[in-house]
Amino acid sequence: MYHSYRAAELTDSQFNAVQADLAAINALAQTPLQLEDVYIRSMYLCSDQPCETDWSQFTARALEQISRLVVGQSVIGGHDRRTLPLARFFKASVVERLGPSGERALWVQAWFYWLRKTSGATDLLLNIDGGIYREVSIAWRYRHWRCSICGKEDGVCGHRPGDQVENARCLRLIDSIVDVLEGSFVYKGADEGAVVAGARSIPADMNEEAVLCIWQHGNPLFDLLCREGLLSDVREAIPEELQVLEGSATHMWVDDLGRAFCSGRELHRLLAPGGVLVTCQTDSITSRMSGLPNFLVAGEEAEFPALIIRRLE
Ligand SMILES: [Zn+2]
Repeated sequence: MYHSYRAAELTDSQFNAVQADLAAINALAQTPLQLEDVYIRSMYLCSDQPCETDWSQFTARALEQISRLVVGQSVIGGHDRRTLPLARFFKASVVERLGPSGERALWVQAWFYWLRKTSGATDLLLNIDGGIYREVSIAWRYRHWRCSICGKEDGVCGHRPGDQVENARCLRLIDSIVDVLEGSFVYKGADEGAVVAGARSIPADMNEEAVLCIWQHGNPLFDLLCREGLLSDVREAIPEELQVLEGSATHMWVDDLGRAFCSGRELHRLLAPGGVLVTCQTDSITSRMSGLPNFLVAGEEAEFPALIIRRLE
């Protein structure tokens, strides 16, 4: 799945969404931050699907509670609370997502930020976008659980979670969350589908790779991919939002880098250290990019000649 932008004008609602993110981050920061100071990604933390590890299941109400309680909590590795956080959640919401067999499920999508200038910031970015840090898991506390068969609380009935009762599986319904402790990158998550989302945190399927695509209006390939439903988060690209992405894209496709240059946009600046941009090859772009320090430019001879631009680390 591809995260896609098209070049165009800023709309008020998009601008306001970016400003709202910044305000949410600054509610947690000790010193005021600009969007250029942080990297932002999101993860799907947990869903209303039954968890077969312990036969528990969150209700929609519990997911809403989690989306409120997770704000301000830490992102850590492997639920190891002895280590310092890697990042911090600043907003979350309950979203609908399609599962592998096309079934719909509710998920808590939680956005987190970390600081660009800290040591290890680029490593974290590359490991997330490169698919190494992928599965995630949430730590939480609940007050009571309910039996899915008879509705009684805390196991006073004879039903046990996991038991088959006639045609139904007995589940431990979690309806009241007391606390969210943290969200972790883990070796293997218990909730299938709990993964990091694409660049700048957009719903997509589980096999997504975060690719930032920037297309001109009317590009036939773009229209085709849209019709086939292969793009996620298609929206108008706005200068302010692209600026926010500066130095954070690990994979980019740009259909017409030359045209972007002509209108004053230096899209290669969006690349993170080690990031790769693929674009159509033209003589003017090749010579222009070849002169830049810190960028490695290589042509690919094919039916449609491509230019591959890598930002050096
Ligand atoms: Zn029961």
